[in-house]
Amino acid sequence: MQSVRRRLLGGLAMGLCLSAGGARAADKGVIGIALPTITSLRWVIEGLAMTRSLDKLGYRAILQYANDDIPTQTAQVEDMLANGASVLVIAAIDGTKLAPVLQAAADKKVKVIAYDRLIRGSSHVDYYATFDNFQVGVLQGSDIATRLGLAAGKGPFRIELFGGSPDDNNAFFFYNGAMSVLKPYIDKGQLVVGSGQIGMDKVSTLRWSGSVARARLVGLLDKTYARQHLDAILSPYDGISMELIGALKKAGYGQGGMPLPVITGQDAELPSVRSIVRGEQSSTVFKDNRDLAQVVSSMVEALLSGKSPAINDTKTYDNGEKVVPAFLLKPVLLDDKNWRTALVDSGFYKAEQFR
Ligand code: BGC
Repeated sequence: MQSVRRRLLGGLAMGLCLSAGGARAADKGVIGIALPTITSLRWVIEGLAMTRSLDKLGYRAILQYANDDIPTQTAQVEDMLANGASVLVIAAIDGTKLAPVLQAAADKKVKVIAYDRLIRGSSHVDYYATFDNFQVGVLQGSDIATRLGLAAGKGPFRIELFGGSPDDNNAFFFYNGAMSVLKPYIDKGQLVVGSGQIGMDKVSTLRWSGSVARARLVGLLDKTYARQHLDAILSPYDGISMELIGALKKAGYGQGGMPLPVITGQDAELPSVRSIVRGEQSSTVFKDNRDLAQVVSSMVEALLSGKSPAINDTKTYDNGEKVVPAFLLKPVLLDDKNWRTALVDSGFYKAEQFR
């Protein structure tokens, strides 16, 4: 994984400006793409996909990664404005901190598309392109319910809940979606949260950090699970799932009559898909970012030719200042049965990446 990442990242250092090149490229204008970090491969792949598809349409993309640092992201967006961007595509690190720079964008009549994560607290967010985030959580919760046989009345099983970053609006949608499935079983006693830690105020993981989540799990394994088996973990994201699986194995899970808990994920990251193939991580949620890049390119094209971008949701994403019109794509649950069709046959990954 590291080497794949290193190869992909060759030259893609934080703050690098990727311009698409070619005589045609800058003709139709400059588009700023501000993404949070290169530590999760999804943002890297998506940044490149968007750059490519905007290039084909005749735009020049300025693509920047902010190392998960809020002031860096703000400065990058300011630079994009200074460099003449006519549309900004932003996946926020902290969805509440961009209001001042978006005011500057609005003053210059620059359009803003929130990418994947909602930008909150600003009326200057024109569109939102994302996946059905509540459904992501529903898929995660349903996978746990199915694997444990909860609908058939089985249990009680012990579960621990992990949430995403509390400054990312998506994290609440994922958690609420999952809990819409799991809570009734908790209420009936078929699922028992051994630690008693329920609610995003108790289970969130700042900046989606795998090591932060791991430290929390290690504490729980020592304290709550020294003498009882942990049967399931709601994990919101593959990078967290991989760290949790590492901690579980270190504590003896996955060997000698101590099976790993059911454990969910999200993003179909390569290490997690390999883990699913090995029978460790139970599932992941695949969000085909090629489609998201396509949606965003079409939004840009529409905005800059004076048309209205296609949207399919006008109710769900209230950012505190307005309900942001959105285009939601469908997430898909992947496990050891369907990963190959979804990921390899579709060309998302190459078969040799799994040899
Ligand atoms: C994205 C997820 C991702 C997470 C961590 C969320 O905002 O929607 O796809 O797993 O951030 O990067």
